[in-house]
Amino acid sequence: MSNQAYLELNNIDQMFGSFQALKDVSLNVSEGEFVCFLGPSGCGKTSLLRIIAGLDTPTSGAILQAGKDITHTPINHRDFGIVFQSYALFPNLTVADNIAYGLVSKKLSVNDRRARVTELLATVGLSGSEGRYPAQLSGGQQQRVALARALATSPGLLLLDEPLSALDARVRSHLRQEIKQLQEKLGVTTIMVTHDQEEALTMADQIVVMNQGVIEQIGSPQDIYAQPSTPFVAEFVGEMNFLSAKVSGTGQMQSAGLTLRCTPSSHLTIGDCAQLAIRPEDVRFHTEGKQDNLLNAKVLHLEFLGSRMRSLLKLENHERPILADISMNEMSRLSLVQGQNVVCQLPHDRLHVFGGEA
Ligand code: ATP
Repeated sequence: MSNQAYLELNNIDQMFGSFQALKDVSLNVSEGEFVCFLGPSGCGKTSLLRIIAGLDTPTSGAILQAGKDITHTPINHRDFGIVFQSYALFPNLTVADNIAYGLVSKKLSVNDRRARVTELLATVGLSGSEGRYPAQLSGGQQQRVALARALATSPGLLLLDEPLSALDARVRSHLRQEIKQLQEKLGVTTIMVTHDQEEALTMADQIVVMNQGVIEQIGSPQDIYAQPSTPFVAEFVGEMNFLSAKVSGTGQMQSAGLTLRCTPSSHLTIGDCAQLAIRPEDVRFHTEGKQDNLLNAKVLHLEFLGSRMRSLLKLENHERPILADISMNEMSRLSLVQGQNVVCQLPHDRLHVFGGEA
């Protein structure tokens, strides 16, 4: 199986009446990989997860798991565990019985079942909680129980549907690390749905960025952040400033009457409309020496973010202000104040180039 994907989605379409929620979605997931479906509300990520789980059948397309076509396999014959946002524990059952519920299909002796529950509780850091009821647990603890239940049968595939979004920020970040460590330890192929870019960036091996029923980009967190392939991805993952531009030469753009150097783009020709994009942390403040892409700017606003200062800059000739982040070390060197005129640099190798109008 080494070269074959563990999970294959081939040309999945999903129609709800005349509305197409998924459009020709294809994806390969390798064994042991942690994949995040990331996108805004309504982009189709839950629809795709439901199809993988067998809760819905796609209008067209096929799903293969471990080389077997499971498109029409009933849910009880599939090999996965699932955790939902809303814990979905049985309130009238103890923690042990909730977890053992995941084992009903396995013919285990009472002792073996008890041993497995103990082992699973240790795995999720809840040893000794067998006799407690869901209402006696915090949200984070309930979600650990749900995770233990999902892992009870040692499934080949773990599906997580926004598992952290009901938890408060501190618990969320803690559980995020724990789930990731557990997934790595168990090596279970995992798909998690989230609309939270930080969750996807910190947990995923591969991020699948979705928008309006299509996959915009698939890549490692580093690739998605450093080389977004569309303006949507650039804006959805991290923050990005956009400038309208027109191609005026090879690796050269005109933006609001100024000439800017950029990396040449093979699919653009002279006269094409384009967008130049730069992350706030890539904007530099010029102090000395000759550099390219220098622009006069005015500091409209400064915002202290703890580890860095965020500035809002009005670039010469440009209507829309841009954001620039400055480290606190740099800040003490520059001693910027609101209203100050500065020269900033948009380093050409930090400019992303997209076709089309802003
Ligand atoms: P969210 O984060 O809000 O859950 P999502 O990315 O998971 O969003 P889906 O739940 O997959 O999005 O929904 C995708 C689109 O399909 C939405 O426009 C939604 O309204 C629509 N949709 C989903 N399920 C159904 C259904 N059973 N009947 C009709 N439309 C549906």
